[in-house]
Amino acid sequence: DRPMPIATVDPTSGETVQKFEPHDPSEVQRRLARAQQAFEHLATTSFAQRAGWLRAAADLLEDDLATAADMLVTEMGKPIAQAEAEVRKCAKAMRFYAEHAEAFLADEPLAAPESVGARRASAGYRPLGVILAVMPWNYPLWQVVRFAAPALMAGNAGLLKHASNVPRAALYLDTLFERGGFPAGAFSTLLIGAGDVDAVIRDPRVRAVTLTGSEPAGRAVAATAGAVVKKTVLELGGSDPFVVMPSADVAKAAEVAVRARVQNNGQSCIAAKRFIVHTDVYDEFATVFAQRMSALVVGDPRDRATDVGPLATEGTRRDLAELVDDAVARGAEVLTGGSAPDRPGWFYQPTVLAGLTPDMRIVTEETFGPVASLYRATDREDALRIANGTDFGLSSAVWTDDAEEADWFVRHLDAGAVFVNGMTTSYPELPFGGIKNSGYGRELAAAGIREFCNLKTAWRG
Ligand code: NAP
Repeated sequence: DRPMPIATVDPTSGETVQKFEPHDPSEVQRRLARAQQAFEHLATTSFAQRAGWLRAAADLLEDDLATAADMLVTEMGKPIAQAEAEVRKCAKAMRFYAEHAEAFLADEPLAAPESVGARRASAGYRPLGVILAVMPWNYPLWQVVRFAAPALMAGNAGLLKHASNVPRAALYLDTLFERGGFPAGAFSTLLIGAGDVDAVIRDPRVRAVTLTGSEPAGRAVAATAGAVVKKTVLELGGSDPFVVMPSADVAKAAEVAVRARVQNNGQSCIAAKRFIVHTDVYDEFATVFAQRMSALVVGDPRDRATDVGPLATEGTRRDLAELVDDAVARGAEVLTGGSAPDRPGWFYQPTVLAGLTPDMRIVTEETFGPVASLYRATDREDALRIANGTDFGLSSAVWTDDAEEADWFVRHLDAGAVFVNGMTTSYPELPFGGIKNSGYGRELAAAGIREFCNLKTAWRG
């Protein structure tokens, strides 16, 4: 089913709304040249200037709230209130970096090695150049902005290769930063397919690559970047554990578990996907959780009463249905859901599966949709073993009222983050990223803006 055509296809109806011609090689060259020029221009600007432009872009984005949110609903089926929240979250992150970038990148004085005659030494973060961003469709604005805002504040230029099913978002972002005041080409879109990414990575004007997406895409992009010695940041898939221990508020945990699983119609890398519950509270949790999952309103994402809209693409639904069917064929128990409703569009019923065994694909693969896997743990060591028994390591959650137990899980869970008595959410203030096959590098916070900088040491004799 690849290469995907570049098109807006409304997942609620399954109908093609608009098709787009990809940029031809000469247009790609023109945009690369413009990005390089913009980078050279940015080098002459101050933090205050860039912050002013970024704040102006944030204001424009908020002015566009209604049309931008509608665009997300049309292109990937996000429920309208969540689409509006995504737009606001982007504006917030832009203002966050406008405010903090200078401090995050301030020169650090270093102890001068006097024995070799140095009087002063320091290190400072300098921009790298044009950075390529390969991005997914699940948060079409947020995934891009959390890269673009720090990149532009650091003085880098950005080129976006967005997912082929969100071209309207790609073209909206193509002009947003320029509208805010950034030099033309400081951030722009390449309307190209996945097959054209390799040549862009190899172009000498591109200095580094960030990719948010699936593990296979990450491997492909990092392999090419490695061959030409360019840094990568990879934000890949996840199969986050959500552990519930007996001391937790089980009813609250079950309520939050539903949101943690079905946010964004279940298509979030940091969605909780495996629910690992201590045997003492397993039955209580399973009952409340399955009840709440089955009570969710599945329907038109434009309707504010809808909890769960369609999956973004036909392929996403097919992949999800295959995982469920495989588990059921091998004996998994369906507590609720388990199939696609009989209606147009790419909907899938919120589903809870139990009785999972290691021969089922769902145990090791990512479920990108509203399907939850339940596991029963005998004690905390067993819960940890199940939680860490995955090749992914993005985030994790643990519910317990025992502070010592919380510390123990924070220490031992193999993940880029642990959220205690809550669900994983990304915040501009907190570093975000994974370990193992979930990727490497961090976005957001100070760590995120430093990823695409040259930490330049200065020694003065
Ligand atoms: P995807 O198929 O990997 O696509 C992501 C992006 O990579 C798209 O722009 C895609 O372009 C491009 N791409 C795909 N194969 C490529 C290749 N061989 N070379 C170069 N570029 C390539 O992922 P998706 O289906 O859009 O998104 C779902 C996945 O993303 C899930 O695994 C999810 O967990 C992960 N994700 C991770 C995070 C995180 O922060 N860790 C956040 C969100 C999503 P085309 O669309 O043109 O194919």
